[in-house]
Amino acid sequence: MTYDKNNIFAKILRGEVPCDKIYENKYSLAFKDINPQANVHILIIPKGQYIDVDDFLKNASQDEIVSLMQAVTEVCKITKVASSEGGNGFRLIANTGVDGSQEVPHFHFHVMGGEPMGLRGLRRS
Ligand code: AMP
Repeated sequence: MTYDKNNIFAKILRGEVPCDKIYENKYSLAFKDINPQANVHILIIPKGQYIDVDDFLKNASQDEIVSLMQAVTEVCKITKVASSEGGNGFRLIANTGVDGSQEVPHFHFHVMGGEPMGLRGLRRS
């Protein structure tokens, strides 16, 4: 499978589509999900062209991988969902491929919280 340069997150990264940015570092970008499924619902993406978590972990540089994990920490700090920030926790999801119900073929983490998540994001549909 080759990377689709016309996916919506590629367009956001090129500045062709706006996003509600909450954090950015050298290799990563975080913005609000356009259709939030929780009080806090943030997407964190690498700026490089990676289809999914498998592609990212196999092909990204150490700096890109560290940068993305730092972005997760920063997003949890900004949104105060982490217990270290006084929050009650959160769900970190990487939907992957067809069986994982991944809609946008550019690797992304969902950070969801700000309220009890129950089985949201996990339930059979
Ligand atoms: P997934 O099923 O893991 O691929 O999730 C893709 C997510 O991207 C969904 O939660 C969508 O609501 C979200 N999404 C799609 N387009 C946009 C956009 N333009 N800005 C922000 N979030 C988006």
